[in-house]
Amino acid sequence: MIIQLKQDISERQKESLIKEVNEIGYKITEVKTQLGDYLVGIGKSDFDIRRIGQKEGIEDIHIVSDEYKLVSKKWKAKPTSIDLGDGVFIKDGDMAIMAGPCSIESEEQIRKVIQHLKDNNIKMMRGGVFKPRSSPYAFRGLGLEGLKLWYELAQEAGIKIVTEVMQVSQIEEMYPYVDIYQVGARNTQNFNLLDELGKVDKAVMIKRGISGTIEELLQSAEYVFSGGNEKLILCERGIRTYEKASRNTLDLNAVPILKAKSHLPVVVDPSHGIGIRAYVPQMALSGVMSGADGIIYETHEIPEKAYSDGQQTLDFAQSALLADQIRKTFAMRKTFALL
Ligand code: PEP
Ligand code: MN
Repeated sequence: MIIQLKQDISERQKESLIKEVNEIGYKITEVKTQLGDYLVGIGKSDFDIRRIGQKEGIEDIHIVSDEYKLVSKKWKAKPTSIDLGDGVFIKDGDMAIMAGPCSIESEEQIRKVIQHLKDNNIKMMRGGVFKPRSSPYAFRGLGLEGLKLWYELAQEAGIKIVTEVMQVSQIEEMYPYVDIYQVGARNTQNFNLLDELGKVDKAVMIKRGISGTIEELLQSAEYVFSGGNEKLILCERGIRTYEKASRNTLDLNAVPILKAKSHLPVVVDPSHGIGIRAYVPQMALSGVMSGADGIIYETHEIPEKAYSDGQQTLDFAQSALLADQIRKTFAMRKTFALL
């Protein structure tokens, strides 16, 4: 059960409401976010909602039986729009493009990518400064200093920054320099990290876990929302299956399912999803057609020289072509009456 509270509810009204709901048999968690305050009740649902519906201070009540509640569409039909400022949004009915290298490598590299993004009217740059690598000997990123440098250059160019946060201690130090905190596939169920990201007022994009179900992704998002942060984006980036011909299996089924279950925007990452450069464009366009609200992909001036994930990274000419095709495919999608 979700009880949306009125802005002006008094402490006394709230206490009385919590007491009554507890008596009915619900355990209540109070959730305060940037956009509203809620009481999330877990318990038996066979009671007459009218019993508390008339109480003062309540905006609305919703019975949601899913494991995830606040991120569910069952109570909020209106899609959540993520506003990054300066007219940059990630939202339903729009097509966000995020592009950039797997890893931030040098000032020269950042400058080149930014120029490429500007030339192609791409407003969000992805890149890792803290890299989760399967091998401890692989390049692990430029760290905070790299992020500061990137931020300076991105600011000048009016480009937003999407970058991965790997641990709780990084959240605060990264805060001034990021627009979207990315939670990587290896951290989707790092519940401490999710709890702490619930306390910040910047957008968080959660990638689906390597072996994570759709339900688990939504539950991870619920952690952040119930911690107080509603600025959430879900990302399908492929899952590990028995198939070895591609790096991961990009589960585009997840897109319409997530869109139906949740009010949060959904982004597709074809680069990690298939892991093979030559096939990234068609999977990106398939992602657009699957109903995604955005595409995130890897690009680098010379992919063969990239410090990480070069095999799935597009060069700038391929990226320019793809960005154009993403927009054209999205325009076409809008003309289809998809059920
Ligand atoms: C990345 O975006 O470079 C990355 C490491 O992604 P994922 O967490 O999806 O593997
Ligand atoms: Mn990568």
